[in-house]
Amino acid sequence: MHILVTGGTGYIGSHTCVALQQAGHSVVVADNLSNSKKETIDQIKKITGSRPGFYKIDCTRETAVDRVFSEHHFDGVIHFAGLKAVGESVEKPLKYYYNNTLSTMMLIDACRRYDVKRFVFSSSATVYGENRAPLVETMPLLPATNPYGETKAISERILSDCAAVNPGWSVALLRYFNPVGAHESALIGEAPSGIPNNLMPYVTKVARGKLKKLSIFGNDYPTADGTGVRDYVHVCDLAEGHVAALNKLTRGVHIYNLGTGRGTSVLELVRAFEEATGVKIKYQVAPRRQGDVAECYADASKAKKEMGWQAKRGLAEMCLSAWQFEKNYGQ
Ligand code: NAD
Ligand code: UDP
Repeated sequence: MHILVTGGTGYIGSHTCVALQQAGHSVVVADNLSNSKKETIDQIKKITGSRPGFYKIDCTRETAVDRVFSEHHFDGVIHFAGLKAVGESVEKPLKYYYNNTLSTMMLIDACRRYDVKRFVFSSSATVYGENRAPLVETMPLLPATNPYGETKAISERILSDCAAVNPGWSVALLRYFNPVGAHESALIGEAPSGIPNNLMPYVTKVARGKLKKLSIFGNDYPTADGTGVRDYVHVCDLAEGHVAALNKLTRGVHIYNLGTGRGTSVLELVRAFEEATGVKIKYQVAPRRQGDVAECYADASKAKKEMGWQAKRGLAEMCLSAWQFEKNYGQ
């Protein structure tokens, strides 16, 4: 298949480009490089031997999106392009609603005009709000705790409504849990600018001595060791989930959790990192972070049953690959 990957120079998008090309698909990336670098395209070529097509465009711009569609005959779109900083979305809600929902609408409209019937969307476990884990696709969505989460819930609804009036469309709404780690080549990975918000990139920066110590946000949650529990999933497993979705997708709208189904606490992740890398992580316990839930992990059985997809890589591999990428490319 010939696939348009928006946000394809980003963290999850770049790993998915690799997985798609290795599965025999051809890829065109559309990204405005607001949170990534064009050199990622060279890295994808180094890993796979072939260079994806590349357009530096903003997916909220109709004419720019139209140009890409007019120059290709796509079999499907995977839409990763989006802003994802939860804290920033609280401070700048309009920027998030504008970018994340308008880009989705522009792409849907282009698919309609150019008769592209497969659409895979990057959603997030954050749409479950305060539902209790294990989170199941059939749960009613609760209000997300921030505008970022709302943009995902709104985009899911827009896609569902549009699919309902476009018979023949196949839409996958993929709800990611906590993607971490990097490709085994250590050529691509997660490279946030500034001080990381997320746990794994923060841990790798502490390991490198770039940050002094990790603050563990709360140790009084109702969990086994009191620290927050999440479902960490290797980014390469996640990438393979997109290939499975493209291959297995049938007509209609299908929602899949992409997680391991296993919860890991902050302290467990720190210990796993220390064991896998041999590097000690200094930490202190700090107050809870606003908006955090105690536990968030997937019921991952639907993706396995319907798409034959299951996360294969364990916590040690996630930690080691994140560390190797940080050593190679961390700033
Ligand atoms: P990322 O920031 O590394 O990648 C997103 C890419 O989209 C970047 O390369 C950025 O330059 C590009 N982009 C943003 N707005 C754009 C626009 N209007 N037009 C063109 N390009 C644009 O983020 P990621 O972690 O790879 O996330 C990919 C997708 O998955 C996002 O939609 C994100 O919300 C979603 N997601 C991520 C996580 C996570 O923890 N990383 C979890 C759940 C969902
Ligand atoms: N966390 C932490 N210290 C940090 C960053 C995160 O203790 O510096 C905790 C956070 O409270 C949550 C878990 O690590 O329990 C995962 O947080 P992250 O921001 O990576 O992902 P989230 O699930 O919040 O999207």
